[in-house]
Amino acid sequence: MEIKNNIKEVEAELVDKKCRLIAVSKTQPIATLQAAYDAGQRLFGENKAQEMFAKYEALPKDIEWHMIGHLQTNKVKLIAPFVSLIHSVDSLKLLEEINKQAKRFNRTIFCLLQVYIAREETKFGFSPEEVLELVKQNLSELYPHVKIVGLMGMATFTDNQAQIRSEFGLLSSLFNQLKSMTLPTNMAMKELSMGMSADYKIAIEEGSTLVRIGTTIFGNRNHTSQ
Ligand SMILES: *Cc1c(COP(=O)(O)O)cnc(C)c1O
Repeated sequence: MEIKNNIKEVEAELVDKKCRLIAVSKTQPIATLQAAYDAGQRLFGENKAQEMFAKYEALPKDIEWHMIGHLQTNKVKLIAPFVSLIHSVDSLKLLEEINKQAKRFNRTIFCLLQVYIAREETKFGFSPEEVLELVKQNLSELYPHVKIVGLMGMATFTDNQAQIRSEFGLLSSLFNQLKSMTLPTNMAMKELSMGMSADYKIAIEEGSTLVRIGTTIFGNRNHTSQ
């Protein structure tokens, strides 16, 4: 019941916006995801391939599975047959493997490029400059089995609202800049994945189309491996 109300409250923020809610269910047990499913939720986000695979097997097949965490190349094959969108493409090596597995499973895999926008040191993602260089390459010939449909980013973990807004603003301008450019044929700027429990309201104001929300819906995760 609580999950249902939490989903409703977040959904109320999304009304009239071109933004969808991804329920980030990492570390949560199957029964908790089932409760969210019963409340009408269909988009779920996970950050580990094995965990996503196990939940995919156990739960109804009309769920859209979103990979939001750093993905090791040797894990791509586990989720390649069913994943809806991989938000966390942070290297060309990973993109190459996704392309290979997509071909093997005879499908197109939708991806977002993860862009580094936070001021703090994070390990993963392309810089905005790297993205602008990347789109000059012939990505549709190099990776014909993937479709890059947008960008994903994470703001600095801080209470400074102005800083969070400026980081999301940066990603949003890159998104709009790319939108106005001629892009490779397997690339189109449709989804802007930004915003988590602590900062999703700002992210929506800055143009997010996919918010990834865990604790606001499910409560605190008791695991340390987040
Ligand atoms: C865990 C996680 C989220 C959700 O975080 P909450 O603060 O629980 O909403 C969103 N995005 C990514 C990439 C995550 O790893």
